[in-house]
Amino acid sequence: METRTDILVPATSCPVCGGRDLSAWKRANFDAARLSSAHIKITDSEYGKVWDLSRCRRCGHIFADPGPSPAALAALYAEVVDPRYEEEAAGRSQNFLRLLSRMEKHRPGKGRLFDVGAATGILLDLARRRGWDPAGVEVSSWAAGVAAEKYGLSVNVGDFVETDIARDRFDAVAMVDIIEHLARPVPAAVKAREILKPGGILCLVTPDIHSPAARMAGPRWWHLRPGHLAYFSLRSLAVLLGRAGFRVLELRRYAWTFSAQYLLSRLPPLRAWADSGPASFLRSIPIKLALGDSFEIYAEKVNRD
Ligand SMILES: [Zn+2]
Repeated sequence: METRTDILVPATSCPVCGGRDLSAWKRANFDAARLSSAHIKITDSEYGKVWDLSRCRRCGHIFADPGPSPAALAALYAEVVDPRYEEEAAGRSQNFLRLLSRMEKHRPGKGRLFDVGAATGILLDLARRRGWDPAGVEVSSWAAGVAAEKYGLSVNVGDFVETDIARDRFDAVAMVDIIEHLARPVPAAVKAREILKPGGILCLVTPDIHSPAARMAGPRWWHLRPGHLAYFSLRSLAVLLGRAGFRVLELRRYAWTFSAQYLLSRLPPLRAWADSGPASFLRSIPIKLALGDSFEIYAEKVNRD
C-alpha cells in the first residue's frame, strides 16, 4: 500500500459548534500513515486505537485533530470489504428491530425511510418487511453490492452529503453508528433535515464518550478505534441537532445484541478458538448487552422559514 502521510488535516475550529478554544485530549497511538480499510471496517478489532484527539472547551466535542482528509477517508471506505458484518445479521436485526419499532412510535404512518450508511441493507430489509419504503446510501461498494444481491435493495454508493436526494421526501432518516465516522457532522445532520418531510423524524445512534462503561473501560473502551473521528457527549449532540434544526423527542441508551461467537472473537486470547469450526454453535446464541454506552435519539425536523 502506498504511504498515506499526506492524509492528515489539522482542525482550526470545533466541527460541531465552531468554537476555537481547543485543547489536546488524547495522543494518537497508531501510525496514521499505515491506515488501511481493514482498520476502519465495521467489525474491526482495533480497540483502544485513536487519532490525536482535541476537545472543544465550548461544547465538549472530542474529535480527531489532525484527522484524515475527506478524500483519503472516502478512498479507504470505498475499499471496505467486511463479510463478518453480514455473518452477524441475526444480532444486528435484533438491534434494528428495536430502532424501527421506536421510529414507528414517533411516525405511526411509516412511509419513506432513508438509511445513512446502509451497509449491507439489513435495517432497510427489515424496514421494508414492516411496511416502510426503503432507500439509502453507503460508501462501501462491496456492502451496497450485498444489499442488492442478498436483499434486492437499491442503495446509492457514495457520500451522503454529496448525494443528490430530493428535499422534503422522507418520513424518517436513520443514522445508526455513522456520525462518529464523519469529520464534518454538521453538513450531514443538515442534509438529514433537508431530505425529511416537515415533522419527519431522525433516529441517531452514536457512542457516549462520558458513559459509565466508557469511563470503566478507559483506554480499552471498544468505541475507541481508528474509524471513529468524533466522540459526542450529550452537550455536543444537543448543539449538533439544534444547529441542524431538530427537536429531540426521545433520548435512550442503546442496547446491543451480538452472538456469543462474535463477542468472544473480539477478545484476543479467544479469537482463534471462537473462529474455529467447533465453536460455530456460538453463532446461534444471542446476547443482549445493555452497556448503555451509546445514545439512541429520536428527533423531529423543526420547521423554519
Ligand atoms: Zn464545540
